[in-house]
Amino acid sequence: MSYKNFPMVSKVVFGRGSFNQLGDILSPKRLNVKAPFIFIVDDVFQGNSWITSRIPLAYEDKIYYISADEEPKTSQVDKLVEEIILNYKALPSGIIGIGGGTIMDLAKAVSIMLTNKGESKDYQGWDLVKKPAIYHVGIPTISGTGAEVSRTTVLTGPERKLGINSDYTPFDQVVLDPELTKDVPKNQWFYTGMDCYIHCIESLNGTFLNAFSKSYGEKAYELCVELFLDNNLTEEEAQDKLMMASWHGGMSIAYSQVGVAHAMSYGLGYLLGTKHGIGNCIVFNQLEEFYPEGVALFKKMKDKHNIDLPQGICANLSDKEFDIMIDVALSLEPLWENALGKHWKKTMTRDKLKELYLKM
Ligand code: NAD
Ligand code: ZN
Repeated sequence: MSYKNFPMVSKVVFGRGSFNQLGDILSPKRLNVKAPFIFIVDDVFQGNSWITSRIPLAYEDKIYYISADEEPKTSQVDKLVEEIILNYKALPSGIIGIGGGTIMDLAKAVSIMLTNKGESKDYQGWDLVKKPAIYHVGIPTISGTGAEVSRTTVLTGPERKLGINSDYTPFDQVVLDPELTKDVPKNQWFYTGMDCYIHCIESLNGTFLNAFSKSYGEKAYELCVELFLDNNLTEEEAQDKLMMASWHGGMSIAYSQVGVAHAMSYGLGYLLGTKHGIGNCIVFNQLEEFYPEGVALFKKMKDKHNIDLPQGICANLSDKEFDIMIDVALSLEPLWENALGKHWKKTMTRDKLKELYLKM
């Protein structure tokens, strides 16, 4: 037995208003005046001076505003990398992602692909990245995915939706400023928050669980219950705690894996473009059989916050479309093994998956 030796985020600052310190954090990392800092920022903040006036720009630094309406694609990463290489005389000093999981994943992937040859689709998988990435910084503006702390960046490629999982993926620096999450719309708050809750349930009920994962998973779970069920926190406390729940949920899956909900949600995302947070909720809502207590509590949370989930999204799909979705889901072997054990193929047949998808 050999144990995995995981890298972690090397530096982290936490606190309301810590975003103000970004200039001081970045300036020692500037390589030279020709090597810019590239800020990849969710376009929901374009024109929002409360955020943008605090992005420290100097020399040839640049902000790319990018929409989070669609999750990151390998083609989008490759295009952005090409543009950066063509526009500057030197490689950037750093890549800074300011947004949710979509934008943070994009920042991670761009920083990797600036130093690694070829196309990003060739790095989807486990430990395929050869060279260290450019210095990269994650600044979450919505909490739940754990993308700020994880060693993956999830991309949709021509053949699959799969992460670039590598030792070079985690951020070198994370800025946790819960105040940045204050304007997240309520439904989105729930969907992305539930991503964290589902990470906990999948990790805590998985066969890969060990004391490391369990300690983080239990803490995140406890925070989620306090946030989404007990609900006697001030808004500020809730923002602070959800940011820490996301962090712990992400740490919990570092040493374990996610499970059935994520595998099936990746299928939905690949075929229908269903986004991660809402997709996980749609799937998880139908998984009593696998996670009875977790799903029962999820339903309580959903009702408490009056969240309606779309229904019948798979009702009119063709056999060919089901096959595509099922192929994507089944290809995520580590997730199934974590959820159902080594002999998962006996339980999770194509017919079983189709039956589950039809309920959604
Ligand atoms: P997101 O980044 O897709 O954003 C969701 C919506 O919220 C967008 O419309 C965005 O503009 C908006 N938004 C974000 N911050 C806001 C703010 N402060 N105020 C107002 N609106 C705001 O959402 P997400 O759920 O954080 O990320 C989903 C993505 O994360 C998916 O692509 C998924 O694959 C990825 N993911 C990655 C990991 C990982 O470990 N790398 C883990 C889980 C999910
Ligand atoms: Zn997730």
